[in-house]
Amino acid sequence: MPRNFERIAFFISGIVQGVGFRPFVYKLAQQYTLDGFVRNGSEGVYVEVEGKVDDIALFEEMLLHNTPPLARIDKYEKKSLHVRGEKGFVIQESTDGDIETLVLPDVSMCATCKEEMLSVDDRRYGYALINCTDCGPRYTLLQNLPYDRKNTTMKEFVMCEKCREEYSNPLSRRYHAQPISCPECGPQIYLCFEDGTQEDDAIFQKVATLLDEGKTIALKGLGGFHLVCDATNEEAVQTLRKNKNRPTKPLAVMYASLEALQKDVCLTNEEKELLCSQERPIVIVEKSKTLSLAPSIAPNISKVGVFLAYTPLHELLLHQYNKPIVATSANLSGEPIITEEKLLFQKLSHVVSCALSHNRVIQNGCDDSVVMAVAKEPLFLRLARGYAPLSFYRKDTSTCKVLALGANQKSSITLGFYEHLICSPYIGDLDSLESLEYFTQTVETFCRLYQFKPEIIVSDMHPNYETTRWAKEYVAKYSGVKHISVQHHYAHALSVMAEYNLTQEYIAFCFDGTGYGDDGVLWGGEVLRCSLKGYERIGHLQTLKLLGGEKAIKEPKRVGLSLLFEVMCFEEVCALKHPLVQSFSKQELKTLYTMYSKGLNAPLATSIGRLFDGVYSLCGFVDGVSYEGESGLFLESLALTCKHDRCYTYTIENGVISYEMMIKEMLYEEDGAFIARKFINTLADIVCRVSLEHNQEILLCGGVFQNSVLVATIIELFEKHHITYYIQHKTPLNDGSISLGQAYYALKKEDI
Ligand SMILES: [Zn+2]
Ligand SMILES: [Zn+2]
Repeated sequence: MPRNFERIAFFISGIVQGVGFRPFVYKLAQQYTLDGFVRNGSEGVYVEVEGKVDDIALFEEMLLHNTPPLARIDKYEKKSLHVRGEKGFVIQESTDGDIETLVLPDVSMCATCKEEMLSVDDRRYGYALINCTDCGPRYTLLQNLPYDRKNTTMKEFVMCEKCREEYSNPLSRRYHAQPISCPECGPQIYLCFEDGTQEDDAIFQKVATLLDEGKTIALKGLGGFHLVCDATNEEAVQTLRKNKNRPTKPLAVMYASLEALQKDVCLTNEEKELLCSQERPIVIVEKSKTLSLAPSIAPNISKVGVFLAYTPLHELLLHQYNKPIVATSANLSGEPIITEEKLLFQKLSHVVSCALSHNRVIQNGCDDSVVMAVAKEPLFLRLARGYAPLSFYRKDTSTCKVLALGANQKSSITLGFYEHLICSPYIGDLDSLESLEYFTQTVETFCRLYQFKPEIIVSDMHPNYETTRWAKEYVAKYSGVKHISVQHHYAHALSVMAEYNLTQEYIAFCFDGTGYGDDGVLWGGEVLRCSLKGYERIGHLQTLKLLGGEKAIKEPKRVGLSLLFEVMCFEEVCALKHPLVQSFSKQELKTLYTMYSKGLNAPLATSIGRLFDGVYSLCGFVDGVSYEGESGLFLESLALTCKHDRCYTYTIENGVISYEMMIKEMLYEEDGAFIARKFINTLADIVCRVSLEHNQEILLCGGVFQNSVLVATIIELFEKHHITYYIQHKTPLNDGSISLGQAYYALKKEDI
């Protein structure tokens, strides 16, 4: 054996199974003429190579830095072995049966598959379910682990000879691509109707005609059906809104290409990157002046959610139908995304005229992800298709198994075990029986996939959250399971810590709608000093009253009025010529004042989200809102039109941030855009000033930070003052991350 020969073993773990990692290693070994083998093991991939020292060095370089698109290396070790002198390189069968793998999210169609699908000579020409190792469905098809065809909903389709050949050839792009199929052997697309009839002839032309007529159709995506209509046809969009009972909440629009998209919106480089990424999320971007979309797509705001076609079926439709389409999740308001034709027609026959569907079963539902780019970084509004299930690798390992249930809105669950934290896709608001069922189903799916028996259940402190009830029932049923509850805003702070693997003490600004506080008050404008051991509330917004409780959330002007009651006497309020006051009758003012002064159905809150509602009405907008965060989005749009750096007067005494002066000053200003900007500047100033008082690193968390103007202004101030801060870039800023924070806490708590 020549002297410059060596044999090295590599242990690699992370996302390395089911992503084409072994053929990647195989090809590398051939490229550098190395001998040895690669195989999957219980902790990842194990490789032994033998050859020239220099070649192995090059091999190692490529192994670590040129991984397949879906792979992620978390841990890596190597060891020197005795040279054996074996010849050839092989992919070995795995030795241990019990393989611990991570469930991977679905991925949009890759460029190579798209090219094949559009090449007349390819055997998959026009095939709407084309995929390969680098792309296509995963989580949404998965029934059990390990990720093998027999454990997916593709098991009923028997591979044809050609597909089997590709599947078994390590040099093929489809080596072990579990959902591999072709027009010969795979699932087929068709048009189906409420009466159960199907058509499979010229279906794209038929759909295009229906869309041109202003009809809404359903289209089967990866994790469920989309409702689709012509996004440039105002009447079609209005009809969809009316039928779906969704008056103003923005609708997402899908385009065939970046070129088509750029006619309607203005994009930064970061936004382009997000749009074209393999995850293909919905990206919230600025509308352009040449916007061709129907006005009611995203009424009253300057932004719109857009995305690119991500399945072959979407691609084929947009290839035929050369216009942007509305593509919004098919569900009834407050219910989960629909994944089956039968349920689709049962629930939405008044909305859709037919469904463009196929016979590949969706095992697990999954919505589209929603993201925006602020200060060149992504901020998540919804973590789902493409990103979730999302696995985090922790530095520490734990012996206990944690199931965290999240909050009640934008629900998600997180599993914690060993060094893993695994977040489910977005489940939704748990306001209906259907969504609760979907929640339970998701818990069952994750527990089955990971053969997971929770030892600790974590929930929010809120006594009336469905998740709290669920936790209580669970621990009553299974003895020995522990139940921990974590305060909502502390969980927000913990979710930032989880994302960055932080373990020190920080100052956290937790600004959101409302969460249950330690003192029974609805918190949401909190400053916490926190670590993994616990937290101390060192500051908060001055309290306000929600006149009529829940009703105040739908009618921001009730919050506006209560702010006025807070800063001046009843007579003074009645004498104001402000549109907010004038929108109430004398009798209403009296009744609401009684509610306010006697504290009848007027819960206390320290929420910045609600303060946004109040300011919205003080800007003169007195109509109700139809979705959560509408007032914030509206103020953000206004603020974007009026750049200045003035602030309102405010005081902070004993940690209480007073809005009194600010509200009084606002009454003398009339320009809504000016007020909106000044208000956001003031919040940013407060955050910066409080941060400067503490010589500690800062966490920003909670749904209020979905306001891009606020975040950008704060970041600018932080950079000017050299303040170190963390804000989530991989997980949602809103309640979607509560479960992650809860799980991180419980795992660490067991370690301490
Ligand atoms: Zn592909
Ligand atoms: Zn085939």
